Amino acid sequence: MLQTCRRHPSAAPFLATCSGCAQELYDIEQANRARAEAERAATVTNYDCYGSLWGHDTVAKARSDIEEARESGHTIDEWNVTDRAGQPLRIVRTTDPTSTFLGGIDIAVIPA
Ligand SMILES: [Zn+2]
Repeated sequence: MLQTCRRHPSAAPFLATCSGCAQELYDIEQANRARAEAERAATVTNYDCYGSLWGHDTVAKARSDIEEARESGHTIDEWNVTDRAGQPLRIVRTTDPTSTFLGGIDIAVIPA
């Protein structure tokens, strides 16, 4: 027995799955995937002076940390590079001259 969908009355009658609902679900999954991809690309990766991974930040958090370091008189060194996938990256090294812990160095890799 063929059914019609109340939400998609103009979709073709169906046995089990409305093509309109299936399309909607597909679109939502695609949008979620694109959002997750964008969030991953916009993630800042933090390293210490030995290149050990210390964690991840949002771009906004990294920017405010760098601004705070600048205002506190830390040395800021910056490089712009492109990774193998063609993603432009901004590398920011902040050095706290008063710190003896790991040279007072924090390195942030920021998608540009
Ligand atoms: Zn439907």
